Amino acid sequence: MSLLAGLRERRARGELAVDLEAARARVAALENVATTMLGCVRSLVLDIDELGAHDIKTRLAQLTTQLRQGAEASEISETCAQQRSEILEFAERERDYLDRRDAELRRIIEVLSHGLAGVSQGAATYHRRLLDNGTRLEAASRLSDLVKMRAAITAEVHGLRTAIAERQVEEQTQAQALRREVEQLRQNVARAQTEARTDPLTGAANRAAFDEELARRCELAAAGREGFALVFADIDHFKRINDSYGHPVGDRVLTAFVEFLRARIRRSDTLARYGGEEFGVILPGAALRPALRKARRMNEELARSDWAVDLATKLKFTASMGVAAWQPGEGASGLVERVDRALYRAKHEGRNRVVKA
Ligand code: GH3
Ligand code: MG
Ligand code: MG
Repeated sequence: MSLLAGLRERRARGELAVDLEAARARVAALENVATTMLGCVRSLVLDIDELGAHDIKTRLAQLTTQLRQGAEASEISETCAQQRSEILEFAERERDYLDRRDAELRRIIEVLSHGLAGVSQGAATYHRRLLDNGTRLEAASRLSDLVKMRAAITAEVHGLRTAIAERQVEEQTQAQALRREVEQLRQNVARAQTEARTDPLTGAANRAAFDEELARRCELAAAGREGFALVFADIDHFKRINDSYGHPVGDRVLTAFVEFLRARIRRSDTLARYGGEEFGVILPGAALRPALRKARRMNEELARSDWAVDLATKLKFTASMGVAAWQPGEGASGLVERVDRALYRAKHEGRNRVVKA
């Protein structure tokens, strides 16, 4: 039964005398209650513009104004009837909106947890825990549950960051060690390559390196690039040096001869131990005459030199040389043969001399 019907009934039974002042006070109190309730409803409307929250708030404010300004009862009832359905529809939209937002949040967490699974192996534990959180989130409806969940996820994210940072440090250390190892290997390979092309006693190029360089020079010359000259130098009576002073002194003579020759040729020239006490020098860009001049100068200088065996003993040694310049159409073996013949002639003609091919 409505308040008004109740009052009428009580008056009909004579139980109630109409007291105008009391009724006015009652109406004022009810107006007050109504505006307060309207204020409450307004403050419950979330500021979500896409749902038309602003409109609803404006209408609630209008209704409040109508009440306060003592509008006609019929007018208030009409506005109230209109707005009741709008407010209920808004409340429905708001509920639906919040539900969808929750669902979206859950989906984001799911995507995040799946995505993070691929970040690194170290994240596996994190991933599992995050999934647990995701499952719990499905069941969580209270804000306090969500707050706990967020705290748990924040802690896990922190854990993951720490794990990733540690892993990065570890990987950097491993990468550094790997770089050092690669550099060491590179140096070893470079050393091995140099050693494979070097005569260990004298440090001159070895026979393999000489053959390779000579073939390359012949190809370049044949292709129309610069020609070159070749000198073969063989120490005279080297066997006697070994016999007189011993093998170690013989070795030192070989090394000294290489140093002697190297000091008198260009860096771009190739000096190689062809075998035993015989050496080959490739002189790129040199024609026969300058090569011959150079060989003669070196030969004369060698003959004038003294070599200290020890503090008290000095020895002298000479060399014989054959010289040739590359000729068009000539290959490495043909050139070596010619220079060899010239060297043989130098030996045959008395040693300590230079003969051109
Ligand atoms: P020739 O004037 O005709 O060239 O006479 P040679 O004594 O220099 O030539 P021969 O071929 O008769 O002897 C070469 C010697 O060189 C013999 C060999 O023991 C010596 N020999 C070769 N390699 C080495 C080496 O690495 N160290 C030493 N100490 N001697 C070597
Ligand atoms: Mg010799
Ligand atoms: Mg020899």
